[in-house]
Amino acid sequence: MNQRNWRVAVVGAGPAGLYGADALLKRGAAVDVFESSLAPFGLVRYGVAPDHQKIKKTQIVFERILAKEGLRYFGNVRVGVDLSIAELLEHYDQVLITVGSPGARSLGVPGEELPGSTSATAFVNWYNSHPDFPNPPASVDVDHVAVVGMGNVAIDVARILMRRTSELSSTDISQSALTQLSAAERKSVTLFARRGPNQAAFDEKEVRELAALDGFTVCVDGYISKRSTPMSDFLAQFPRADHVQGRKVVLHFCASPQELRGETRVSLLRLEKNTLVESAARMRAVGTGQFLEVPAGLVIRAIGYHGEALPGVPFASDTGTVPNQDGGVLESHHGVRVPDLYVAGWIKRGPTGLIGTNKSCATATVDLMEKELGQVGPIRDPNGALELLKKRAIRVISCADWRRLNQMEVERGEAEGKIREKFSNLQEALKALEES
Ligand code: NAP
Repeated sequence: MNQRNWRVAVVGAGPAGLYGADALLKRGAAVDVFESSLAPFGLVRYGVAPDHQKIKKTQIVFERILAKEGLRYFGNVRVGVDLSIAELLEHYDQVLITVGSPGARSLGVPGEELPGSTSATAFVNWYNSHPDFPNPPASVDVDHVAVVGMGNVAIDVARILMRRTSELSSTDISQSALTQLSAAERKSVTLFARRGPNQAAFDEKEVRELAALDGFTVCVDGYISKRSTPMSDFLAQFPRADHVQGRKVVLHFCASPQELRGETRVSLLRLEKNTLVESAARMRAVGTGQFLEVPAGLVIRAIGYHGEALPGVPFASDTGTVPNQDGGVLESHHGVRVPDLYVAGWIKRGPTGLIGTNKSCATATVDLMEKELGQVGPIRDPNGALELLKKRAIRVISCADWRRLNQMEVERGEAEGKIREKFSNLQEALKALEES
């Protein structure tokens, strides 16, 4: 196809969207990126922990992609509300959906809805200044926290709850979170895995980083190592929880939550101890009929993100993804192809992998998009979709606007001795743009 006659709309300016846009630009497409939030970069901005600035530096890579010739950026546009998928398909040869997995999975146990019980998704969005989470999803002024799940998100959450707030104060953590976390010190955070050490979802280096921090001890509970494996040998360096006095983060294995209890808010988590049974090449957790109860003023579910349906795009609620084959959207899991509609990132493959995983994932989808492109389509008005936004009085945040917001965030941060102070409110950001 003729260079730049190939017009693609990318929905979502997170890692998958921008890696996808970059791959498309390199193959000669003209790319318009639509983002619902006031700022681009998805999980790099709203998911990566504020004390992981090295990972957040990938923002530089994405800034460079945004600045490339052939790419136009339209922030504060909610596809599915301000513009429909059908309208995008009318104005572009192809549409690439990269909206991630913004929702949270639930446990499905009694008491989950009590105040003091929340998802890691809400907690992480709050401390990262996501505009949809201006308030703490639950009080952090508690002695004991239970985190359900033992992946890297659970480790992030434990670190933010336990590390000295003086070590966070210069990061881009939200001021609201910093104030609340500084107000009181938590005595313990216990991470519960339903299975054993060999099935733990965290990376060893994340636990090493946690254990290297001052002010608390990392310790283990809930299993007795029967044989040497790389993970059980790694965990053998940590003391058993009952030998630790003082502040601690406990990695408690082989226990599944059964109920959250409390009068007006959660105060206790009841769990069933598990044993492991091999089934279909997977170790399954099976309840033993023995229970334990632990005090917990805050219970955080860190059991995985979940995709959400986008109007006009097929969605499989069992997997929380858009059904697809190699990135080409299907009407259902084994259904027929939806022409010209594609997916990449977590909404394509589920919520796993690191930022960089999205590069290969998006490139694979772009391979298919290029292969299926066929003949040059009808010449489309490059401003067709933008005219619709104008008619609907949508205040688009352009790339130039974003650069100004970015600069203002850094300046606001400097004034407080922080890397940046993000805008966490759309109206505030728009007002700042008007006044600048
Ligand atoms: P994850 O890696 O899938 O871990 C989810 C955890 O929840 C697992 O321990 C899982 O145990 C457990 N779980 C799931 N359902 C459960 C249930 N019903 N009851 C009890 N436990 C349950 O998910 P994540 O931690 O949200 O991370 C998402 C992705 O982001 C991962 O690829 C992660 O590596 C990445 N990430 C990376 C970093 C980093 O590099 N610093 C930071 C954050 C996130 P089972 O195995 O038993 O299901």
